[in-house]
Amino acid sequence: MASHDSKDSRQRVHDQVGVGDMWVRVALDVPLRSLFDYRAPHLIGIGTRVIVPFGRRKLVGVVVDNPDTPALAPELVRDVDQVLDDTPPLPEDWIRLARFAAQYYQRPLGEVMLPTLPVSLRRVSAYQGKRSAGGPVHRMDRRPGTSPAHVATDNAPDLNAEQAQAVAAIAALKTHKTVLLHGVTGSGKTEVYLRAAQAALAQGRQVLFMVPEINLTPQLEHSLRARLSGLAGSGTVAVLHSGLADGERLRAWVSIQRGQARVLLGTRMSVFAPMPALGLIIVDEEHDTSYKQQEGLRYSARDLAVWRARDLDIPVVLGSATPSLETWRHAESGHYLRCTLAQRARAVELPRIRLVDTRRLAMEQGFSPQLIEAMGQRLEAGEQVLIYLNRRGYAPVLNCASCGWVSQCPRCTAYAVLHKSGHRRNYLQCHHCGYQASVPRSCPDCGDQDLKPMGRGTQRVEEHLGTLFPDARIARIDADSTRLKGSAQALFSKVHAGEVDILVGTQMVAKGHDFTGLGLVGVLNADAMLFAQDFRAPERLFAQLMQVAGRAGRHVKGGEVIIQTDYPEQSVYQALQRHDYLGFANYGLAERKAVGLPPYAYQALLTAEARELADALAFLAGARSLPEQHSDRYPSAPDVTLYDPVPLRIVRVAHVERAQLLVESAHRPALQHFLSRWSDELPDCARGFKVRYHLEVDPLEI
Ligand code: ADP
Ligand code: ZN
Ligand code: ZN
Repeated sequence: MASHDSKDSRQRVHDQVGVGDMWVRVALDVPLRSLFDYRAPHLIGIGTRVIVPFGRRKLVGVVVDNPDTPALAPELVRDVDQVLDDTPPLPEDWIRLARFAAQYYQRPLGEVMLPTLPVSLRRVSAYQGKRSAGGPVHRMDRRPGTSPAHVATDNAPDLNAEQAQAVAAIAALKTHKTVLLHGVTGSGKTEVYLRAAQAALAQGRQVLFMVPEINLTPQLEHSLRARLSGLAGSGTVAVLHSGLADGERLRAWVSIQRGQARVLLGTRMSVFAPMPALGLIIVDEEHDTSYKQQEGLRYSARDLAVWRARDLDIPVVLGSATPSLETWRHAESGHYLRCTLAQRARAVELPRIRLVDTRRLAMEQGFSPQLIEAMGQRLEAGEQVLIYLNRRGYAPVLNCASCGWVSQCPRCTAYAVLHKSGHRRNYLQCHHCGYQASVPRSCPDCGDQDLKPMGRGTQRVEEHLGTLFPDARIARIDADSTRLKGSAQALFSKVHAGEVDILVGTQMVAKGHDFTGLGLVGVLNADAMLFAQDFRAPERLFAQLMQVAGRAGRHVKGGEVIIQTDYPEQSVYQALQRHDYLGFANYGLAERKAVGLPPYAYQALLTAEARELADALAFLAGARSLPEQHSDRYPSAPDVTLYDPVPLRIVRVAHVERAQLLVESAHRPALQHFLSRWSDELPDCARGFKVRYHLEVDPLEI
């Protein structure tokens, strides 16, 4: 039987090889190599999704080429199993974007393309299950493609002169240009985005509106719908972010790809949405690190947005009060078009920023007398107060006073953080690996019962505030208090409704909110970021504090920000106090230039993970020596510096030891050229070590 079978199949294969055969090259989400050739039943266009056999499995892939001859002997080439036609083929420009991302970030094309699709468009079972009839999109068709259009109800304010100038400058662009909209907090950047979007919609184009985070800013989604939906037949607004259920994500994706939705509001993933009529891209808070994906394809959605806009020859607007130094450099050199909004849109001043030197002060539970007094006055006046502390939990560590024991995470080289719990025992939690344990009743080492929390997180601050201001209504917004779906929105609604007097929060509260009753912002423990090892730490601290400071006094007069610090003379704080982004950025750029750091150098980071640190370091040492061993294969090596492999600052996370190797060059093409060779050779280099590794181009943290 078996021999008959195989003879039969050989015969069948033989019959099928001949003139007129059609081949497709398919991108699949498999490691290492990702392009595979198949025989097509008929011409299948580039961008079409297909189901193909792969080993014993079947996989969904994307046709990226129609080669004249397959890369394998024709008799070895297998047949395409199914052509998926429930969505239009992915457009050419989408394929170009994916190809660019794959090349630039050194990843196989299939590993770039497939993960960007909604799950059901890349899952074989969605098409081959018993109940399926034509795939998830066909089944979806009976339901409306997007949420219903709203009528424009929001009253648009008259633009001020600066806004009008920016809108006119953007609308005048007929070809590609990157525009930096540099506007202080509260300057009305959103209004500029909306007008620019309206102009693009009026031209029949689609608009991609990217934000770092959507769940936290329902206000924006609301005004977008109110102002842009239904505009001159422009259809609806679709929303795309990782918090959506797959069905919702699929609907948004399909309606955008079909051009039914004209505006896409989305987080970083939306840069990969197929938009056939894309005419304008907006990247709000362009400096925000959330635009960087931290796993898988480690891409910068902002950078890809700029690339995509250039590829499509359309404008892209990058907006921020504190642009990244990468972007600022281009604005300074004239490469980007800069539009400045120097004034707040409403007739309110920027908040006054006060530095309180905490070195010689008698602090009360972390609060300076100045801050307590200012809070009292604001509360008295019926204003709201925001206390900003970027550290959740009750206390960062629990400590035994008699023997020095500290609450170390057993899996990581990090402390386990003390959390209080309303209804169960207090617990220790590691913020790196998620390890949890209940708080020991006595010291595990010496038995002493006197375990003390050291330092403070948002929970402890909330507790202190309750004793300092017993009559105030206090709310805390951080990752813990907003774990349940919808709870963040509920808490923010309470703040907006004036049902909260004091809001305590992490950076979750800093982003984008237009608090109307907020008069004072107090910043605790900013110094923690001041001496971080990362060369971008000051830039990030400046942006973070500027943003949180920008929540103060947006509607009430005389807004104030109090920053408690042991180092008031530091240039970051001095610049903040003067609201001097320009001074800070230009000084920062000069410094980076002098020492050859980004944006004057280009970097990549090879990170290795292993059970034994020695393995991780040995692999990196091997990778580092590759260019010396094979100098013929690395013509660009002289322009590239490979630093010594070093363990990460938090070397062990979840029992895995981690080390890194930094690669740097003053020339981006040289680095790119080097990396493409290097990444090809890394798999061989890793053989023999028990390591996992990943390569990150343009890393944000080093
Ligand atoms: P940004 O994003 O620059 O921090 P927003 O876009 O949130 O600032 O605008 C701040 C506030 O100013 C909002 O309440 C907005 O409605 C209001 N605003 C914007 N433009 C104008 C204008 N031209 N006239 C009056 N108010 C405006
Ligand atoms: Zn002890
Ligand atoms: Zn841990």
